Amino acid sequence: MKVGVIGAGVTGLAATLELSKAGHHVTVIERDKTPMPETCEEAFFWDRRGAPQVRHSHALLGRLHNLLRDNHSEVLKKLLGVGATEICLTDHMPDTLDDRTLIDEDKNLRMLAARRTTFEWVLRNIVIENPDVEIQTGNGVSGLLIEESSIPKVTGVSFKDGTSQAFDCVIAANGRRSMAPNWLTEAGVSVPAEELEDTGIIYYSRFYKLPDGVDLPVGDRLVAGDLGYLKYGVFWGDNNTFSITFATSDTDKTFWGVRDSEMFENVVRLIPAAAEWLDLEAKPITEVHSMAGLLNRKRTLRDSNKMIVNGFHMVGDALICTNPLYGRGCATGFWQAHLLGEAIREHPNDLTSQGEHFALSMEENILPWYNASVESDRSSRSAINSDGQDEVSEMKRSILKEGLIPATRTSATVWRAFMKMMNLLADPKVLSEPEVFSEVMKTWETRDQRVPDPPLGPSREEMVEVLQLSENV
Ligand SMILES: Cc1cc2nc3c(=O)[nH]c(=O)nc-3n(C[C@H](O)[C@H](O)[C@H](O)COP(=O)(O)OP(=O)(O)OC[C@H]3O[C@@H](n4cnc5c(N)ncnc54)[C@H](O)[C@@H]3O)c2cc1C
Repeated sequence: MKVGVIGAGVTGLAATLELSKAGHHVTVIERDKTPMPETCEEAFFWDRRGAPQVRHSHALLGRLHNLLRDNHSEVLKKLLGVGATEICLTDHMPDTLDDRTLIDEDKNLRMLAARRTTFEWVLRNIVIENPDVEIQTGNGVSGLLIEESSIPKVTGVSFKDGTSQAFDCVIAANGRRSMAPNWLTEAGVSVPAEELEDTGIIYYSRFYKLPDGVDLPVGDRLVAGDLGYLKYGVFWGDNNTFSITFATSDTDKTFWGVRDSEMFENVVRLIPAAAEWLDLEAKPITEVHSMAGLLNRKRTLRDSNKMIVNGFHMVGDALICTNPLYGRGCATGFWQAHLLGEAIREHPNDLTSQGEHFALSMEENILPWYNASVESDRSSRSAINSDGQDEVSEMKRSILKEGLIPATRTSATVWRAFMKMMNLLADPKVLSEPEVFSEVMKTWETRDQRVPDPPLGPSREEMVEVLQLSENV
């Protein structure tokens, strides 16, 4: 089959990997002018206007690591070969757990530490080794060629200059700003309404590099925390790089100044766990990048149990995107590409069955994560706008803060369930399973007998005062 993939981000490249290995001829069409650089250091400075999130921290979760290990070990090998690291989560097990004996399934608790551009660069290097893959850069798709039929069939793509390219199957992996639904509508296909919710956050990230010979200060905890008004995380990357990210409410103008490099570092220095990373002669290698307009959004090409189009799929952020705070996008994008590969393999000669199979796999595997993101965002929004909070959400929040989080430091059952959930290796509902939940509740019930944890950083009032920030400028 001649396949056209729109977009050379993580999902487009993952789909290309899956389908070219299955014997299909794949042409990737990427709008950004990104000629292939020699090294991952050069790729870090790629012009990626089409995917501005590459300038932000990326956690590469266990599900992604396991998909690579089990299906594309050559990608994992190359990534590690160019300086990425495998984060073995059992190496960071708290000393205070009631049982630190390793079990067989712990081998899956591995994440990857790499800059997002390094990951893309490696993926691109691997896919172009296949003579059945061609990558065209610097030219964006502007529409779809569609043949009328009982279910309309996509037969290719068109470009702004009036030219077009024919394919047997087209995959839109063109990210969160994808116009694919509009292209279908323009061609007369009726597209079901999308579900959309703004996350209400702004992201600020800056990348750093440590001098040769200085190791990243990777301790027994991953560095991430929530000060209530500001969330922070330190992400380690490849080749002695790391990045620091803050997320604040997009309506909280007091923190808009964090976009300024000096202010960004002043904030870092007030958060002890993050400040430690700067104390090792870390040199900034980027400015502070900010990004807003971050959405949870769900689309589908199936309406009333029927496909609306044949020979066309949307994958990755183009189909479903979630709040980046949970760090799930690359893993779910790669997972989607894998599921699409399976659907096409299962029904090689039946385009409608390919679409239906993929849509059902999405419902079963990916939608629970979308729903979990939406639910969790709603609950943290109600915490911020605490007026009129209901007792149930108050109780839920207390169980999370004073039950679940401390229980991940004392109960091996809870620690494992939490790590599996965070890494998309167990259903989001795993934390409600009786053996996990009873441990969480035991911890919660003893909350008044415990010495409270030291604060992770200053209160909002302290931060505003120390940095002399103007409230609501
Ligand atoms: C601030 C931020 C932080 C994030 N942090 C994490 C994280 O920690 N971990 C994680 O896993 N995920 C994270 N994500 C999510 C992750 O970046 C996305 O889920 C992932 O990039 C989706 O990949 P994609 O290939 O579907 O889309 P993209 O990576 O956006 O790629 C789409 C590609 O399509 C191209 N394109 C667009 N339109 C056209 C066109 N018309 N013709 C041709 N090409 C086109 C673009 O140039 C781009 O290269 C984060 C997202 C954001 C915004």
